[in-house]
Amino acid sequence: MKATGLETMTYDPSNIFAKILRGEIPCKKVTETAHSLAFHDIRPQTPVHVLVIPKGAYVSMDDFSAKASEAEIVDFVRTVGKVARDAGVAESGYRMLSNHGADANQEVAHFHVHVFGGRRIGRMVERPHD
Ligand code: AMP
Repeated sequence: MKATGLETMTYDPSNIFAKILRGEIPCKKVTETAHSLAFHDIRPQTPVHVLVIPKGAYVSMDDFSAKASEAEIVDFVRTVGKVARDAGVAESGYRMLSNHGADANQEVAHFHVHVFGGRRIGRMVERPHD
């Protein structure tokens, strides 16, 4: 099975978002702050589909919530809110979502929040009663 970097919770700097942060691969940037970067998802699932990531090396929400500084956390949360407002979905509604680990199908082992919006998104989970 392909390694994802999530197996040990040790940050793997070869993940795709780390490469974006180092400028090794391009992204469609939405905004950037001292501690956070927002860019368009390469395979958008809704008309608005932006990813917000911290610049620091955190594997997932589990890691970020435990280890990030208050400045990083405040910056990150404010950036997510601003991205949604700037995308024009604060009025119509949006969903912020973050996958941690195998049960949530996290694919990229650098913490990120998805901001989905621009249409009715549907219910929260695929099979709510399983
Ligand atoms: P997750 O399953 O929560 O880890 O989601 C990873 C997301 O990263 C997916 O929605 C992918 O489409 C997106 N993604 C993967 N590579 C890139 C990239 N180079 N630029 C932008 N988004 C990407």
